[in-house]
Amino acid sequence: MIRVLPEAVANKIAAGEVVERPSSVVKELLENSLDAGAHRIEVRVEAGGRRLIFVEDDGSGMSRDDAMLAFERHATSKILTVEDLFEVSTLGFRGEALPSIAAVSRTLLDTRAATDSAGTRIEIHGGRMQSVTEIARPPGTRFEVRDLFYNTPARRKFLKSESTELGHIASLVTHYALAHPEIAFRLTSMTHEILNAAPAASLRDRLYQVMGGQTLDQLVEIAPVSRKMPSYDQPDESESETQEDSAAIFGFISRPEIQKLNRNQIYVFVNRRLIRDRLILHALTEAYRNILPASVFPVALLFLEMPPGEVDVNVHPSKTEVKFRHSGFIHDFARESVRAALARTRPMAAFPAAHVERSRFAQPSGFAHEHSETHPQDGTAASPAVQSAEDLPFGLTASQPIPFSRSFDFSPAPELARSPADASLPPLSDRSGTAIVDEFPKNLVPLGQVRESFIVAANDDGLWIIDQHVAHERVLFEQRLSAILQKAAESQRLLLPVVVELKPEQQVVFDDIARELAVNGFEVEPFGRRTIAIKSAPAEIRAEAAEKLLVAILDNVCAEGQGLSLDALRHRIAATVACHAAIKVNMALDGEKMAWLLGELAKTDCPMTCPHGRPVLLRYSLHDIQKAFKRI
Ligand code: ADP
Ligand code: MG
Repeated sequence: MIRVLPEAVANKIAAGEVVERPSSVVKELLENSLDAGAHRIEVRVEAGGRRLIFVEDDGSGMSRDDAMLAFERHATSKILTVEDLFEVSTLGFRGEALPSIAAVSRTLLDTRAATDSAGTRIEIHGGRMQSVTEIARPPGTRFEVRDLFYNTPARRKFLKSESTELGHIASLVTHYALAHPEIAFRLTSMTHEILNAAPAASLRDRLYQVMGGQTLDQLVEIAPVSRKMPSYDQPDESESETQEDSAAIFGFISRPEIQKLNRNQIYVFVNRRLIRDRLILHALTEAYRNILPASVFPVALLFLEMPPGEVDVNVHPSKTEVKFRHSGFIHDFARESVRAALARTRPMAAFPAAHVERSRFAQPSGFAHEHSETHPQDGTAASPAVQSAEDLPFGLTASQPIPFSRSFDFSPAPELARSPADASLPPLSDRSGTAIVDEFPKNLVPLGQVRESFIVAANDDGLWIIDQHVAHERVLFEQRLSAILQKAAESQRLLLPVVVELKPEQQVVFDDIARELAVNGFEVEPFGRRTIAIKSAPAEIRAEAAEKLLVAILDNVCAEGQGLSLDALRHRIAATVACHAAIKVNMALDGEKMAWLLGELAKTDCPMTCPHGRPVLLRYSLHDIQKAFKRI
């Protein structure tokens, strides 16, 4: 028997699409406040938004009738006709958010329209109206959404840890704050003021307010550029070229030396709406081609503006996907604008390292290192400006691994810097006869290096190729994990503390994992609002790399998107330390060092794969060699 679902059930179903997690509630409420013309928006959350999401604005407010209507499905003040749907200039328009949120929480709405003398309070639990009362309050609107998903246990179970949810919310509010510099934003949790941004005069000022000067230094500005849209049939409109026919782009993108493990720091806004869009991501990747290795990502804050009719936002209930009317044009416009901004950048020193201890073996130029893998101009490997291996204090035995690693360059090899999630194993064997091995070979005799990156070794079983960075990474990873278990992770004191500004979501993660960072040899002290001072760092890395490592760990945990178990967190940190401390590719090694590395590798529990799951060595077996020479 077919039935039309009761309103309450329909709303719960819709809630599944609109309200996926606490940050989706924050997003909808923020968008409503922005649509209501707010100048000041305050967000407060408790327990990562599960217990409370509070959003208050000084926008237009609602009359009593409108407030009651707002919780009806498809009740919206923003569009009226089908035609309006193609010209949406507000963030909301579907009229689905409030009924969806109210269906899965205990919601309290206080609101007053400026023209009304009294305000209205509405209480709704699980979609059922509890009370409507008259209250006194200033114009504007306040939502209190409590106990999210209290009546949908299945949904509640899928929520991640409180800090993960708070991280999402912090990132969301931060980026809406960036999209609207003229509006004051404040975000607090029970314990922290995560963001407090007074109205700013420009995007650059807001970026400085929110992210700090260090982030700003890593970015280049895309000054606003506009380009005429391709023409299309517009019978009602004149031929003349107006603002209405143009698309504009502006924002900030990271300098080539900034490399992120994932796309989490790429934010794209279309008409000030935060979206996730493949087309723009692709354009961005293209713009960085031959500038960034394929598996790392830039930071980007891109604002695209175009006539509302040029973009269809009614593609997905959460309005995060859009369809461009002229997608090819938008793609190329974005790519070319980013590329042009990149072309104007000048390399900058990787470390403002004057204030940290410089080891005797510090590299002459940080920048040369950052690029030792891929040369920006021609995409080929450039020779790194490093000392030859002979200059290094090597006479080491296996019991002295730390000086070995300390004497090398510690930046992560870009091609390795990818999140474990997408580091799936390559196929076990390729057509050329090399195979990834499943048992570690003994008695390997190193013969030399290919391109100062891959160690070639031989034994009676055949010919072996070892990725030197990945091999060393495995060694360091296991050493660190066992040191942590024995509470003996070595730490080095920095000559001067390194001050690091944290982004709001990094601060959330930092608070969450501070103890584990300490176990790992980081001694860090708060140093003002969202700023910390690193006083000690893990011993394996170069002192100058302390900041980079800490930020990589925070970003890595941010990216995880779920509450990590202590065990998983330890693995994650150890893998990140190993990645930063391991010798890189493009590094000459003499026979002794190669033998040392192979010996250390043989001692590890998992010599065959790196901590990210990639293979460490390949084999060309004796059998294959004999076959190739037609001896068998
Ligand atoms: P939509 O935003 O798609 O119109 P919502 O369910 O989010 O739908 O909101 C329904 C209506 O409630 C809005 O169209 C708007 O008129 C009103 N409303 C919601 N939040 C606010 C607010 N903070 N200030 C003023 N009006 C609001
Ligand atoms: Mg809305």
